[in-house]
Amino acid sequence: MIENVVEFFKNLPPKQCVTCGEKIEEQHECYGSKCESCNEL
Ligand SMILES: [Zn+2]
Repeated sequence: MIENVVEFFKNLPPKQCVTCGEKIEEQHECYGSKCESCNEL
């Protein structure tokens, strides 16, 4: 059953910035739903 959970997260679309639509790296998740550039504005 654990393998099914892994597959589920693999199939999720990449997280995108709500402002510019740029793909957000997982390590920046703590910044919310904006990319690095938009967070600086
Ligand atoms: Zn952005």
